[in-house]
Amino acid sequence: MRITGYKSHGVAAAAALVNAVTSADGDDSADALRRILRENEFFWEEFADADADAFRHWGRVLRPFFEAARVEDAMALLNGLMLEVPMHPHLADHEPHGLHMHYAPPSSRLPDRVRATTLMNLAELIVEHGLGRTGVCAADGCDRVYADTSRAGRRRFCSESCSNRTNVAAFRARRRP
Ligand SMILES: [Zn+2]
Ligand SMILES: [Zn+2]
Repeated sequence: MRITGYKSHGVAAAAALVNAVTSADGDDSADALRRILRENEFFWEEFADADADAFRHWGRVLRPFFEAARVEDAMALLNGLMLEVPMHPHLADHEPHGLHMHYAPPSSRLPDRVRATTLMNLAELIVEHGLGRTGVCAADGCDRVYADTSRAGRRRFCSESCSNRTNVAAFRARRRP
């Protein structure tokens, strides 16, 4: 169960995009970026290789949102971007979501649709949860970000493997005499 329903897709896509283009082990190839969009149900069209740079740039632009220490900083970032990205909210009714919002103008191509949707979904997330659902992974030496759209909302790591590695290290530290 995801707390924000279809809106989770924009949040998850934003985190995955940031990790692909800004983390040390990220894969920012056009194919990897296409996979991220598909997995998060951005189905409109496959983007051309020439558009890959637009998504790489957007990932770098969104990273400070996940690093923000104060909600004021996240607000300022999103408000600034909302002035730059073309927005034209309207209702749409299609599979797999049924009735839902689109945020980019109807004529927009995929890069602007992804910009508008990720921006609005991140904005909705901090309206509901402040900065409690996003951040940089708490594992030593990991620079990946996470977005937690689970109901419990206690996530602090980018992945199960970072969570397990950190728990094992803490366990060993406690057992050391
Ligand atoms: Zn739609
Ligand atoms: Zn991690």
